[in-house]
Amino acid sequence: MNAISTVPERAIDAFHPPRRILLGPGPSDLHPRVMAALGQGVIGYLDPVFVGMMEELKTLLRYAFQTANPLTFPLSGPGSVGMETCFVNLVEPGDKVVVCRNGVFGGRMIENVERSGGRAVIVEEEWGRPIDPQKLEDALRAHPDARIVAFVHAETSTGAQSDAATLCRIAREHGCLTIVDAVTSLGGTPVKVDEWGADATYSASQKCLSCTPGLAPVTFSTAAIDKVRARKTKVQSWFMDLTLVLDYWGATQRTYHHTAPGNSLYGLHEALRLLAEEGLENAWSRHRHHHHALKAGLEALGLEFIVPEAARLPQMNAVRVPAGVDDLTVRRALLQDHAVEIGAGLGPLAGKVWRVGLMGYSAREENVFAALGALEQVLS
Ligand code: PLP
Repeated sequence: MNAISTVPERAIDAFHPPRRILLGPGPSDLHPRVMAALGQGVIGYLDPVFVGMMEELKTLLRYAFQTANPLTFPLSGPGSVGMETCFVNLVEPGDKVVVCRNGVFGGRMIENVERSGGRAVIVEEEWGRPIDPQKLEDALRAHPDARIVAFVHAETSTGAQSDAATLCRIAREHGCLTIVDAVTSLGGTPVKVDEWGADATYSASQKCLSCTPGLAPVTFSTAAIDKVRARKTKVQSWFMDLTLVLDYWGATQRTYHHTAPGNSLYGLHEALRLLAEEGLENAWSRHRHHHHALKAGLEALGLEFIVPEAARLPQMNAVRVPAGVDDLTVRRALLQDHAVEIGAGLGPLAGKVWRVGLMGYSAREENVFAALGALEQVLS
């Protein structure tokens, strides 16, 4: 194509993605009602009707997070924006932050602390294991000046779930605020922000909420907001500075901050309505139910889970790639011949594990059969 040409030399066809069964680490399949909601007409982000929908979104998210926190809303941006917003607002230069790392996303938290000018104290845990609460207790005893504890509730890179209630309690006993990553857990396994006493919790739209990627639900306790308001230095990110975002999402005023991704918000509204109609407990038990069926099938195929049973996430099943089998060849055949997408291993687990997700609307019986049938054929 000529670099300065204003018309393409050949007609470019409309893009039609192939049908896929999304059984990886997210995004997950969309419910037809969410698809329909996304395709509605655009209206202005300050239109009173839109503003009414925003209030409903906050109410629905409070239910999903099990919190009464007034400051609960979806940020415009993927889960990484949720993560970064929590760190850039809560961590001030010089703050000591204890970060628990048992996979890729704990590692990103450390990066966020350092980029925010904080000092990270790392509690290391073996990948595939939940964080040992005693290690957090020991770290906080050794660092009584720590201000914040951060951990990933559901580590998507391994499929391990940590005991968020206990980790938040230990943090509180040592006078620390908590930053909790609930990206993969929200809607799939219990996330109980108020019961845990979590201070800043973020998630993402494309996993167990089954919406399109690009929105990050967040919720902040009063103590977290107080810490942000008491900052001596400006938040270094203009876009993520909570005190500014609140001009748009806050309770009392609605002024322009950025142009909200309206259609994605319609989709999230419908996805959250579906969750409320099903009921959180029912959604959690649906994920568990299909996980058990998948687990039985995967084990029958001779595949081994990398996470001990008690800490396994139902929505993220990481199994070892059998000796002598090529990871990529199998995943490619699953996608090309069976339209099934599963996830690869990340970091040190690259090439060594497959991650089979059953998230949100993807957690259905027919998908368990699709995954097992396809794997059986490809592996035989
Ligand atoms: N945290 C966890 C635990 C995740 O699994 C992910 C994405 O997979 C993220 C954060 C980042 O989310 P996103 O990819 O939407 O930016």
